[in-house]
Amino acid sequence: MITIEVNNKQIQAKKGETILETLNRNGIKVPTLCCMEGFTPTGACRLCVVEVEGKSGLIPSCSFPVEEFLKIKTHSPRVIRSRKMLVELLLSNHPDDCLYCVRNGSCELQDLAIDLNVRERRFSGTKLKSNLDQSSPGIVRDQSKCVLCGRCVRVCDEIQEITTFDFIKRGNKTAIATSFNKDLNLSNCIYCGQCIMVCPTAALFEKSNIDILEEKLNIKEMSVVVQYSPAVSATIAEELGIRSGKDINGILNSILKKIGFSKVFDSAFGSDILVYEQSAELLEKIKYSNNLPLISSCCPGWIKHMEQSYFDLMENVSTCKSPQQIVGSLIKNYFSEQEKIDPEKIYSVSIMPCPANKFEAQREEMTNKGISDIDLVLTTRELITLIKFHGIDVHGIEEEMTDYPFNISSSAGKLHSVSGGIAESVIRTSYFMATKNELNEYKLTKLRGQKDRKEMFVEMGDIKLGVAVVSGLRNANILLDEIRNGRNDIQYIEIMACPGGCINGGGQPFCHDNKITKSRFKTVYDFDDKGNLKMAHKNRNLIELYEKFFGEPQSIKANSLLHTKYSERDILQ
Ligand code: SF4
Ligand code: SF4
Repeated sequence: MITIEVNNKQIQAKKGETILETLNRNGIKVPTLCCMEGFTPTGACRLCVVEVEGKSGLIPSCSFPVEEFLKIKTHSPRVIRSRKMLVELLLSNHPDDCLYCVRNGSCELQDLAIDLNVRERRFSGTKLKSNLDQSSPGIVRDQSKCVLCGRCVRVCDEIQEITTFDFIKRGNKTAIATSFNKDLNLSNCIYCGQCIMVCPTAALFEKSNIDILEEKLNIKEMSVVVQYSPAVSATIAEELGIRSGKDINGILNSILKKIGFSKVFDSAFGSDILVYEQSAELLEKIKYSNNLPLISSCCPGWIKHMEQSYFDLMENVSTCKSPQQIVGSLIKNYFSEQEKIDPEKIYSVSIMPCPANKFEAQREEMTNKGISDIDLVLTTRELITLIKFHGIDVHGIEEEMTDYPFNISSSAGKLHSVSGGIAESVIRTSYFMATKNELNEYKLTKLRGQKDRKEMFVEMGDIKLGVAVVSGLRNANILLDEIRNGRNDIQYIEIMACPGGCINGGGQPFCHDNKITKSRFKTVYDFDDKGNLKMAHKNRNLIELYEKFFGEPQSIKANSLLHTKYSERDILQ
């Protein structure tokens, strides 16, 4: 540790860290638009400048290392003048439509203007024209709101290794663009939404489907049903002023009924089905040593990446649809039969943590006889807007159950929300299928936690199962290249595109604090620890479904409704 002086007070700094890191660690807030925790700083936005004694110019604190005896002023009149001017210049050509903007209230540029007390317009630039790119099913781009911070470029390149965006042109013509400056639907974007999560303004946001839903809710002849992902119930409490970590399912069911949905289902039931089917698929592949390792298929962002860049591994990818699509298919093909409702009169909505689910729902592979499994997808953030729109007081609301025939789900199904959760659930069920005994210890700690790569080996009778879990597609690429290069001790791989899994999906409430991520993980693990039903294969509703409808996992009927195949996808590069 070394000592530096900040605003006339001595503080301790760690050798090797930047001034900004020292300031943040000591609770001194300095604004920045381009810097992100865990990324190499670029010093591009210059908002984090500080005054350092002995230096003539202001210093960007994000890219200047601490040195013994540095004397720093973080909020001197000169520093504030500089930051304020930068924000005023950014505002000078920014559209003046804050009241209508999707990020009104959660915009970092707006916050900066407030914090720096910008109260008058001193500069009037030419306003950038809004030229919305609405071509993709999940994400909208509005370049007029881009402040060129570069965060989206870096997340897409350094976390996802997809590299959809880059800077083009120079000077005041500089912009962010896709390859050949084409629309997003022609690019290699996998719609994970991680760029939305870091964008400080509304230059990137999810495509909203709320207006369409409101119309459908008002059609009398239509039965509008909804399912929600367990990743939604694990994060939404943060936004509704409910204690984080509380089991919110009962409240959420009641909220959704008040909004007007006729039936409410939990997608964790779909996760249970996925685990049951995928465990059978895994054991069959092991039995015949056929295209191992089996690679999970529940993340639609990963599936698009596979179609674009790893199609040679297609035969290794599980044919199981994702939990969203499984519940969607069951609603249109099983629930409709049980309730004697024409599937065409059912409007099936899902609430998911990720814009990639919007893309997935409209894929041709996700239809049966021309009828879509899912008709409309909302993200967690859209659900929050919907709750406010309907004026629902979430406090003191009477809790309700999810609806039959999918009203029971295991805590294993809910683990799907975090990276490692599907793998843990698949091990629990495939162990039972292989040995006819239950695992002694249900909690597989080697697959838990926020690490972006985890591995473990399990003895299942005479099978030695190697399992690897990765999140963030850069990490997936590294593992998949090991497999391409002949690594053969792994039989099952779980891949989630978003770092940490769906809990940090691109449609979740904005979160720039690792403490919140930690508490989201804890909520999911607590649910599993406290739950009475920890194995997907012991779910009574699932057993009934197979007795009445599917017969066995991977039966002809199960294959036609719960499984699918993908095709190679061309992209502009
Ligand atoms: S959605 Fe994901 S893949 Fe697409 S541009 Fe954003 S970060 Fe990249
Ligand atoms: S789109 Fe958003 S994240 Fe990307 S450079 Fe522009 S403001 Fe920054």
